[in-house]
Amino acid sequence: MRIAVYPGSFDPPTVGHLDIIQRAAKLCDTLIVVCMVNPRKKSSLFPPGERVEMLRLITAGIPNVEVDSADILLADYAKLKGAAVVVKGLRAMSDFEMEFQMALLNRKLNAELDTVFLTAAENCQYLSSGAVKEIGALGGNISEFVPGEILERVKGVLGYGQRGC
Ligand code: ADP
Repeated sequence: MRIAVYPGSFDPPTVGHLDIIQRAAKLCDTLIVVCMVNPRKKSSLFPPGERVEMLRLITAGIPNVEVDSADILLADYAKLKGAAVVVKGLRAMSDFEMEFQMALLNRKLNAELDTVFLTAAENCQYLSSGAVKEIGALGGNISEFVPGEILERVKGVLGYGQRGC
């Protein structure tokens, strides 16, 4: 049984994340999407429980996807779950150096663990959770960036109702 984990902050999940999830799910028996909780980071928009709920909503139609959260090292989490593969999305402009370092570190910490990179879809290269938060905070249109199932919820937290947009 090939188990893969797809870790991230998912604050909030975007269509870029969903694209990676859909493609990665085809490459393994079980894909665990894991919302990594960094206890030292206090600046998230959504609490971990809500991010997990949103991930469950947008992946409900993909039978081999599980959603979880974790506040331990990814290398240890993967070992705990019997996963030998970490999936990462790679955007051309922003991700390579950091992800390369993380992949090497994770393999140092858990020799059984390999990282597989899926290139971001062309129309998601520029998309990040941070961009959604910035555009949303100023009342811009985020409907193309956030999966439909969670759009209203994300807009609510970003304060759209209050601004009448
Ligand atoms: P963000 O960088 O948007 O805050 P995360 O930290 O939650 O997102 O990222 C989790 C994983 O998803 C990382 O591997 C990241 O490279 C990937 N990812 C994030 N946004 C996209 C996107 N638009 N397209 C493809 N992969 C993405």
